[in-house]
Amino acid sequence: MHIEEILYTQGFGTRRVCAGLVQQGFVTIDGAPVTDPGADVATDGLRFTVQGTAWAYHEKAYLMLHKPAGTECSQKPSTYPSIYTLLPSPLRLRPSKGAVQGVQAIGRLDQDTTGLLLLTDVPDEQIDSVKRELEALGLGWSATAVRAGLVACTGNAGCKFSSTDTKRHAADIAAYLDAAGVRLDTPVNIHLTGCPHSCAQHYIGDIGLLGTKVAVGEEMVEGYHVYVGGGCGPEQGIGRELLRDVVASDVGPLLGRLFRVYQDHRRNDRNGATAESFLEFTRRHSVEELRHLLQPEAAVA
Ligand code: SF4
Repeated sequence: MHIEEILYTQGFGTRRVCAGLVQQGFVTIDGAPVTDPGADVATDGLRFTVQGTAWAYHEKAYLMLHKPAGTECSQKPSTYPSIYTLLPSPLRLRPSKGAVQGVQAIGRLDQDTTGLLLLTDVPDEQIDSVKRELEALGLGWSATAVRAGLVACTGNAGCKFSSTDTKRHAADIAAYLDAAGVRLDTPVNIHLTGCPHSCAQHYIGDIGLLGTKVAVGEEMVEGYHVYVGGGCGPEQGIGRELLRDVVASDVGPLLGRLFRVYQDHRRNDRNGATAESFLEFTRRHSVEELRHLLQPEAAVA
């Protein structure tokens, strides 16, 4: 690829600006200036400098950014600086067929929230091929209403207090519900926590799972106490204990039944549209009623 074109694709300005940078000797490869904008350069593993700034060629940009508090994810922030001001200028100027240049954040975090953000410049027309490549790697790309609401503490893979492998169980629950065809209209928060310290705040999840050991015959296996109806903010409330000592491998099927009960018995408005959230549904029923509805042949409530 011509060096002028390489600079352009990497976000160093218009083609005319990039040609000027080359002609003025501002671009070096392996320490030697390149002054012909039409010079053919192999892009594989290419590293170069532009006005002393070292850069590595990437056909596509994929970034992880730890978002600090006091920044906004918008290109046009209202109060705090944009996260995009934290990026080197070329990453903000990479050419795109869309209206907005540069890498874009996948999802958003609130201005006061810190956390991991992913940014990329994959154009819309290549999204399907990216999905296929992710699936080939065994990774998921869709955020179902269940996956979007899953929270798990460190669990016994990294915390000595934990009774259970919370993160693995969270993934198992999502996989089971996906495979069982459970589809929810809106996210339901499922919080798995490995001990009563409750780092994943199981008491305020729509569904809370508190890790424990469960006796099965002579053995002690990993399991959970199950809570429902917790919430925060305008919906604040502490979850109520629905069931105790559920073996971890039984939690997915149990939640599948619970979601089917919710979908079959929730209140709809006059037009048939859904009016009742999962939280409202669980709070409208006593724990005894919910336990009854979970029985295989429960009557319609
Ligand atoms: S909730 Fe308990 S097990 Fe989970 S990370 Fe916190 S201290 Fe560890």
